[in-house]
Amino acid sequence: MSKTDSHPEIRDAVRKLCARFPGEYWRELDRERAYPTAFVKALTEAGWLSVLIPEAYGGSGLGISAACAVLEEIHRSGANGAACHAQMYTMGTLLRHGSEAQKERWLPKIASGEVRLQAFGVTEPTSGTDTTRIQTFAKRVGDKYVVNGSKIWISRAEHSDLMVLLCRTAPRDEAGKPSDGMSVLLVDMREAKGNGLTIRPVRTMLNHATTELFFDNLEVPAENLIGREGAGFRYIIDGMNAERILIASECIGDGRFFVDRASAYAKERSVFGGPIGANQGVQFPIARAHVQVTAAALMVDHAARLFEAGEPCGSEANMAKMTASEASWYAADVCIQTHGGFGFAEEYDIERKFRETRLYQVAPISTNLILSHVATHVLGMPKSF
Ligand SMILES: Cc1cc2nc3c(=O)[nH]c(=O)nc-3n(C[C@H](O)[C@H](O)[C@H](O)COP(=O)(O)OP(=O)(O)OC[C@H]3O[C@@H](n4cnc5c(N)ncnc54)[C@H](O)[C@@H]3O)c2cc1C
Repeated sequence: MSKTDSHPEIRDAVRKLCARFPGEYWRELDRERAYPTAFVKALTEAGWLSVLIPEAYGGSGLGISAACAVLEEIHRSGANGAACHAQMYTMGTLLRHGSEAQKERWLPKIASGEVRLQAFGVTEPTSGTDTTRIQTFAKRVGDKYVVNGSKIWISRAEHSDLMVLLCRTAPRDEAGKPSDGMSVLLVDMREAKGNGLTIRPVRTMLNHATTELFFDNLEVPAENLIGREGAGFRYIIDGMNAERILIASECIGDGRFFVDRASAYAKERSVFGGPIGANQGVQFPIARAHVQVTAAALMVDHAARLFEAGEPCGSEANMAKMTASEASWYAADVCIQTHGGFGFAEEYDIERKFRETRLYQVAPISTNLILSHVATHVLGMPKSF
């Protein structure tokens, strides 16, 4: 732990929990592309997934820096929080924009783990990052919405009881602004599966339980609309700052895992009569990785503090995600290089973490789109699209 790390008690408790799920556990799941059910259950029972849910609804009502500490420690231990991290930020859409009746109905069950809210459906095959062009359409018919369309890369859909779904409720060219005319529905996956919703797993280079979804006249009760019809894009954007700060914390955890592993190995591996870490060609890249991860961690803390103070933090959350994902990727590369051939052996867990941390330069938002945000919104340069 570094001197500046917040929430030492949380970190300590999460580290102890993660020690019950060592490398072998993750390796086997990775081989089978299986979901870490026992790990998610343990985190839920310990209350770590509900730290952001207010106490009135059964959570611990802590700020985002506590959630960051949980996810960072999970990743630093060699585990992966992606199986369950979405509950932390997806729940925020319901908390901030749901009606009191919706919150009372769902949040206590989410906090206790009785109901899992792990799926978040935004991305579509044709629109990509250009979210205003999504085509999945929810048509209001009496007291229901009838949903048709498809989504891609919707992670954990098979392991979630609820999904926050973004759809069009008015065509883009009739909606006023392109970002108008989209709405958020809370879909009960238990009722939807086989009744208009088909889920197709997508096998990827990492174990991420991601899927493609097809909606064929799926009926969703109108009472499951979150907030106002047509205002859904803003609700999703509101949740993205939390998502980026939390994912950035996972990258910091990954970066620290790689630096810990690389520096330990460099001290113990002896070649040419001495530890490889005595060579500056080996030690400088590890030191550089440490500097980059430490600097990125400060950016993440800064964004988290702004978020907790209720200040605007869109640019800071984006910059935190970008610097942290680049720092973790550099550290991953250095860690492989330090281990030589052993970096490629499954039993070291480094090649798995290397694959896992690469994702974060693409999802939940790719680096180019962050640079575009900074160029236009922070530096005032003209938009290219
Ligand atoms: C494993 C995994 C899990 C995911 N989980 C979820 C999930 O649970 N829910 C969900 O909704 N989505 C999820 N996603 C989707 C993810 O958010 C998107 O993949 C990501 O935002 C990039 O969108 P895209 O794949 O459509 O890329 P595209 O938008 O097609 O972009 C492709 C490339 O072109 C670049 N690019 C595009 N436009 C521009 C431009 N104007 N200027 C410069 N460069 C540009 C991008 O930066 C990117 O590198 C997941 C993705 C993956 C791979």
